[in-house]
Amino acid sequence: MRYGPTAVVALGGNAITREFEEGNITQQWANTRSSLVGVVELIKKGYRLAITHGNGPQVGNNLIRVEATRHMVPPLPLGVIVADLQGGMGYMIQQSLQNKLKMNHIDREVCTVLTQVLVDKNDPSILNPTKFVGPFIKEEDVDEMVQVRGWAVKEDPGRGYRRVVPSPSPLEIVEKEIINFLIRNEVILICSGGGGIPVYIEENGTYEGVDGVIDKDLAASVLAKEIEADELYILTAVDKVALNYRKPNEIQLDKISVDEARQYMEEGHFPKGSMGPKIQAAINFIEAGGKVVVIGSVEKMKDAIKGKTGTRIEA
Ligand code: ADP
Ligand code: MG
Repeated sequence: MRYGPTAVVALGGNAITREFEEGNITQQWANTRSSLVGVVELIKKGYRLAITHGNGPQVGNNLIRVEATRHMVPPLPLGVIVADLQGGMGYMIQQSLQNKLKMNHIDREVCTVLTQVLVDKNDPSILNPTKFVGPFIKEEDVDEMVQVRGWAVKEDPGRGYRRVVPSPSPLEIVEKEIINFLIRNEVILICSGGGGIPVYIEENGTYEGVDGVIDKDLAASVLAKEIEADELYILTAVDKVALNYRKPNEIQLDKISVDEARQYMEEGHFPKGSMGPKIQAAINFIEAGGKVVVIGSVEKMKDAIKGKTGTRIEA
């Protein structure tokens, strides 16, 4: 087989735990399987591929699990929860993809790489949390969550209230050499899951973990740059990026330039905790030499690859 272009596919954490589902493990497996239909299309075309995934809903659920049982078992810090989820979600994606490849008689190796991502230990987000995690909270319950549980809670514009955690910006992938080695050898990777485990470098050169959740879209653009990918697919819960999202004058976008993306961002069309980082990731990737970014829904990735749906961002 001759290998084609290199792509990064970023699956939304909300694609695996859906907004209006309970999010039980049966649903997570079913959603994981169906989220890979489009990925298989790229593999059939011979792409070199790195798959990454969000963890917002899952990490929030695991925090609740830890907090509810802290009188029974010692709690785990957020950084370790992110690492655990790279394993758990990576396993579900890896096995689901291996099974799909078997059914399609495609002989490619699939491997999950535990990934640490360098951040600045003085990143402003550590003091001002912005990353939405866990379930949505009813407006009348917000006070209790803040006062009694000590959570930071913010409004996800147009959607509701949610817990927020620190989300430092990704600078560099620690395991980039091994990731490049595996990609060059045509291994399909699942890496930088949940945006990667945030770490910083101490004065003596050693790594130290940070309790936060990196935005997976920003991390995906760092990953895409580091493997010199041609294409970046950001798959989420909407078919297209919109201007005036959920307003009567909403306009869905088919294709925009980086300049237009920047302009719409400045005009405030893309909220910080949701669409904002996807657009920023697209800008960063194209400016670093990437060819195209496609933002669209997980279900319609097959059509988005053909250019029939999704929003395309190019130079
Ligand atoms: P993911 O888990 O895929 O990262 P997010 O919730 O972080 O999902 O971001 C995707 C969500 O952003 C969409 O489901 C949509 O509700 C919301 N959104 C906010 N602004 C826009 C916009 N301008 N166009 C499209 N979707 C938007
Ligand atoms: Mg997100």
